[in-house]
Amino acid sequence: MWKVVRQVAKDYYAILGVSKNATDEEIKSAFRKLALKYHPDKNPGDKNAEEKFKEINEAYQVLSDPQKRAQYDQFGTADFNGQGGFGGFDPSNFGGFGGFGGFEGFSDIFGDIFGDMFGARRQKNGPQRGADLEYNLELTFEEAAFGVKKDIEIYRYESCDKCHGTGAKPGTSPKACPKCNGTGQIKTQRNTPFGSFVSVTTCDRCYGEGRVIETPCPNCGGKGKVRKKKIISINIPAGVDTGNTIPLRGEGEPGLRGGAPGDLYINIKVKPHKIFQRKGFDITCEVSISFIKAILGGEIAIPTLEGEEKYTIVPGTQPGTIVRLKGKGINKIRGGGRGDLFAELKVEIPKKLTEKQKELLNKLAVEFGEDIKEGKKSFMDKFKDAFGG
Ligand SMILES: [Zn+2]
Ligand SMILES: [Zn+2]
Repeated sequence: MWKVVRQVAKDYYAILGVSKNATDEEIKSAFRKLALKYHPDKNPGDKNAEEKFKEINEAYQVLSDPQKRAQYDQFGTADFNGQGGFGGFDPSNFGGFGGFGGFEGFSDIFGDIFGDMFGARRQKNGPQRGADLEYNLELTFEEAAFGVKKDIEIYRYESCDKCHGTGAKPGTSPKACPKCNGTGQIKTQRNTPFGSFVSVTTCDRCYGEGRVIETPCPNCGGKGKVRKKKIISINIPAGVDTGNTIPLRGEGEPGLRGGAPGDLYINIKVKPHKIFQRKGFDITCEVSISFIKAILGGEIAIPTLEGEEKYTIVPGTQPGTIVRLKGKGINKIRGGGRGDLFAELKVEIPKKLTEKQKELLNKLAVEFGEDIKEGKKSFMDKFKDAFGG
């Protein structure tokens, strides 16, 4: 005999976290919640979650079946008759999870419960949400700083207006697939010493759609949708930055069979600026000033996003001094206000001097007590002096 007797009966009610008097709805709802939580797709590689998932499923198979539940309540075991699905077969001892085609009744539970969550894979002939689309949008520094309205061109599928999305030639309609009787799935039963198993594959006649089109719509070729150019106006808020994504709900591909449309995601990339760099909502730049102005002080011009701004520096301004212009940065996306502008002052040292300038600087050097040796001439100068050049 293949019969395996469990040593300890499992408490299926405790496993699902419901009371012994739980209604079918309560059991189904508890199962749904736990199955979503422990589903292997959500816990890849997690053995504990997988075990837990099998246990939850086992409990549900018993408690959701009135006959099995009654027997379980009476005898404290689901080990009923030694054959078929539950006849001593413990799914948790059965190696491999085989892509969920495994246990009898299993796929039906899943088609029902996970159809929405795992979409196309499990249930192709129910409503299907449209695909999400992405669009990479490049903005200038100023557009990102102040916000801009952009018209973008996207190509997306729209429902065919000749066949109203059915894909069938106007005047005809799609028929239920004769191979799978409209279910989109082909079930194959396998008998093994442990019981019989049903594996489910996608119907190869209708590709899981559950329906076939005998005369395709000439406008869309039977797809029920046509690719169209669409212009979408987007208001880009001030303050966006590279890496930001703006979601446009419902602007993706249309859904199938009454499913919701997908979303359109606008990925922002901001072009670098010639002068400014961005740090969050602040901007930075470098401003060159003459060494005379650094010493004597005076008015300088600082570039801003809205043009140059006059700024007065004090006498003795040091190289590397940072000038802050409050509120001259980027608009903050949330909370309003603007960041600041930070200009780092670079002091320019002239590389070429006229004779007059040299003379004056040498006088200045004397005034400062600076020991400038007049004889510090270059090799070429000395050469010229020596040979009267
Ligand atoms: Zn089919
Ligand atoms: Zn059509």
